[in-house]
Amino acid sequence: MTNLVAEVAAAVDEYPTETAIAYDGTVTSYEEFWDRAGRFAAALDERGLGPDDRVAIYLPNLPQFVTAFYGTLRAGGIVVPMNPQYKAREITHLLSDSGTKAVVTLAENAGAVESVVPETDVEHVVSVGEDVESATEFEAFLADETLDVVDRADDDVACQPYTSGTTGKPKGVLLSHHNLAWTGRTNAELVEGGLTTDDGLVGTLPLFHIYGMSVVMNAALVNGAAYYPVTEWDATEVMTSIEEHRLTVMYGVPAMFNDMINQPDATDYDLSSLRFINSGGDSLPIEVLETFEELFDAELYEGYGLTETSPTTHANKPGARRKGSIGKPLPGVDSKVVGPNFEPMPRVEEGPVDEDVDLDAVVGEIVVAGPNVMQGYYGLPEANAAAFTDEDGTRWFHTGDLGYWDEDDFFYVVDRDKHMIVTGGYNVYPREIEELLYEHPDVAEAAVVGIPDERRNETVKAFVVPVPDADLSGETIKEYCLDRLAAYKHPREVAIVDELPRTTTGKVQKYELENE
Ligand code: ATP
Repeated sequence: MTNLVAEVAAAVDEYPTETAIAYDGTVTSYEEFWDRAGRFAAALDERGLGPDDRVAIYLPNLPQFVTAFYGTLRAGGIVVPMNPQYKAREITHLLSDSGTKAVVTLAENAGAVESVVPETDVEHVVSVGEDVESATEFEAFLADETLDVVDRADDDVACQPYTSGTTGKPKGVLLSHHNLAWTGRTNAELVEGGLTTDDGLVGTLPLFHIYGMSVVMNAALVNGAAYYPVTEWDATEVMTSIEEHRLTVMYGVPAMFNDMINQPDATDYDLSSLRFINSGGDSLPIEVLETFEELFDAELYEGYGLTETSPTTHANKPGARRKGSIGKPLPGVDSKVVGPNFEPMPRVEEGPVDEDVDLDAVVGEIVVAGPNVMQGYYGLPEANAAAFTDEDGTRWFHTGDLGYWDEDDFFYVVDRDKHMIVTGGYNVYPREIEELLYEHPDVAEAAVVGIPDERRNETVKAFVVPVPDADLSGETIKEYCLDRLAAYKHPREVAIVDELPRTTTGKVQKYELENE
């Protein structure tokens, strides 16, 4: 078993003067970062907050996020990360559901937080500056002395992130020190030679989301690597920063890699310092992967996971990967593809399969078990009962994702269960059509959903963002698909749009498209 705070403390002992965070011209060493976290912990302690008390962090990617995260853990508390774009309704749900006692927020959002406080158990609101540069209120909150680490058991809860709610009301996910420390360490080991003090991580992913949090807090900062926070995604600024600081590691979502390849001057940037690039959070169209690798002469690996699994469960890694696959289960994670009665689905010989294979014969739900699987949803016994199946002493978590597996243990996601379209009695997996649309030279982005249809139950609708200056019509897209897909799969409706609605984590908000 492992304890997250103990792992970071060991890194601080080993690399006191190495850079932990480099932001806006200011460099914070491991020693300084740990001292600030200790002073944040002492400030909580002075206010009577300690073990098991929830502290919400409602911030963009700023150094103060890291201080508050580890400060809360040092005091024995539990971090509740909140999407900084959430508005009053959403923050009220998260704060009251979690019983949060203190909130760290940007000063510009403090008013919004204060206005919902009466409906919650919140006792303290801590502001971070008037803007991101001046952080005086936060500084004033820090105590003068540090607090000694309050010991917590490895299976005590460290963090309570919320699912993003694309499938219902956000649910609190209970992740222990061991869940997070184990996944962070295992992720760091996927990088050749592990993450080291020579590594600089370009922090494009939001820290409030488990993917960004895990690779920064639980992988980079326990190994002596440096974190370069990016507060807002901007492809050219990020590429400039990689080039300027010779950054070595990038974790991103497919929308970011797609954005990078669509920059007209993409190849002007020197990204050769990157030695590990990973895509996760959403399916990575093969076209995007291949164009990225060709343009930047780099390898782009795909991994997979969920908030409930801290997050990574499957990954491709250097020397052993299969394009189009989410990779193999991490060492120590069990995974299989099961049918409706939990029977294992037959494996395909070698994936990804082509269109001749009857997907319905091999596709099932991906389930996982292992040291990274959450303790459960917070206060939701029914959701917990539905999320797990116990089988011969193994607690299998249902991912809700449909996929298949091959004989070499590579897994393939075909889509989310709830995204599958049933049209005229046929199952259609939107991702297959999206992959095809990405291959069209005039298509920059694409998303496919099912919309209600009286005759067929559902019918396929595609949303397409053209590349700049392309003269693309819905008819062209329909014909292109009809020529290449079985007729029942082709989109009967096509909308040409300027952009796709996306979450802060870069995922297409399909429910918005379904309701258009
Ligand atoms: P909610 O569960 O509330 O709908 P969410 O989907 O944003 O929110 P996350 O935990 O952020 O929840 O995302 C997990 C989901 O992301 C997975 O269940 C899967 O559908 C998708 N996902 C992650 N990685 C990949 C990948 N490599 N390929 C395909 N899908 C992926």
